[in-house]
Amino acid sequence: MRKQDQPVHELPSFARYLNKVFDFRTLAASLADSRCDPQISPSTVFLAAFHGFAFRLPSFQQLEAELSQPALQQWIGADRAFRDDVLRYSLSGFQMEGLERMLVHINRTLKRNKALDAGRVQGRIVAALDGIEVLSSYSRCCDSCLERRVTVRKAGVKVEQLQYYHRAVGCQIVGSPIKPFVALEWLQPGEGEDTAALRLLAKLPELYGSPFFDVLLLDALYAQAPVLQLAKRLGWDLVISLKQNHRDLYQSAIHLFASRPADASGTERLDGKHYQFQLWDSEGLPFSIDHPQPVRVVRSEEKLTQNHYRGGELQAETTEHEWLWITTLDQQAFPPEVVRHLGHDRWQQENNGWNDLTQNWAFKHGYLHACQHRPKAESKEGQREPVANRGLAAVTLISLLAFTLCSAFIHCHSKIFRRYPMSGIEVARQLRCSVSKLPPNIRAPDAPAAPNNLA
Ligand SMILES: [Zn+2]
Repeated sequence: MRKQDQPVHELPSFARYLNKVFDFRTLAASLADSRCDPQISPSTVFLAAFHGFAFRLPSFQQLEAELSQPALQQWIGADRAFRDDVLRYSLSGFQMEGLERMLVHINRTLKRNKALDAGRVQGRIVAALDGIEVLSSYSRCCDSCLERRVTVRKAGVKVEQLQYYHRAVGCQIVGSPIKPFVALEWLQPGEGEDTAALRLLAKLPELYGSPFFDVLLLDALYAQAPVLQLAKRLGWDLVISLKQNHRDLYQSAIHLFASRPADASGTERLDGKHYQFQLWDSEGLPFSIDHPQPVRVVRSEEKLTQNHYRGGELQAETTEHEWLWITTLDQQAFPPEVVRHLGHDRWQQENNGWNDLTQNWAFKHGYLHACQHRPKAESKEGQREPVANRGLAAVTLISLLAFTLCSAFIHCHSKIFRRYPMSGIEVARQLRCSVSKLPPNIRAPDAPAAPNNLA
């Protein structure tokens, strides 16, 4: 079949899938913001921003231009075009609870429909937790900005400057083609990433009514007693990379393993790279003097061979690497090869959520940061003041919802994608193009006959 004859993805099919499987319109209709009696409803603002991300538009200005299409207006429940300042004003005072409920409902539905099963390891669902910086600025700041001093060069002279930034930790399911974010937690001024991570993990069972996943992959930063205690209490197994910053355990493991031959060895080919590895595996090492909970340590000594061009010629180059992980996984059910695999998952996931979001979803755009024009509400002192700025948090969560649902549409539903594999960006382009082919007066087929959310 010629490429131009291939079927393409269309918005009505995307919308039908979202409504049938996730009851998307009903969820959207329950959203709220801080405006009084607005002409454009919170649900419409949400749907506009959601479609902006689903179409991978780079900015709200671009979305505003897109909203001039009557078909798109009808689709999101607006009876006219509206400016991007409506989006900003609504989203800066958006109620986060509704968006969070939506995220939880979608993730639970995906799990119930077995959409996460492809990524199970020995029958377990695996998640990873990581931090990401969402924006940084030397000039614009808000009440919840984090601050640091950085050295910059100005006219060749090094000067120290105050930089504002926002950082969050996110917990994401890994291994399956759909990698939904389970939750996101923002770092508050003055606190470390580990504090925010513990807060995120502690709230998960309450949000989901269950531990939701079984194994959690963590960076060396989280090799801390409180993390181990919390995981034990909530029923998660852990795989944490171990570095020299955890000196006692690192050295006792190295010492123990140095005196004996490897417990297992193997080779692996992945993405044009060839790995040859030897593994050591030992149970019962005390985590630390203060917290002597016995943990299992797995060490991998690896030779990685890959081809590089040198002087125009392809040459194989081999480098040596060492990895250590601590884990609470059972040795019988999870042999060291599987622990190595899980440990590497954090790094080798080509489509790792953060990378994909940063590169393809305008995730670091810094939407609505330091937005001054916000709805007002009565303060404790009885004065009308702008509500706390929730713009960045709201837009970030909407982008994560779009990220998950677009991926679910592609991998769980689309027959076109199965027959003609294509990138997520191409699917987004097709969805966006399909809007201009809709009749101008089309009402979304899933929308109520007389929508009460019209202005
Ligand atoms: Zn800020």
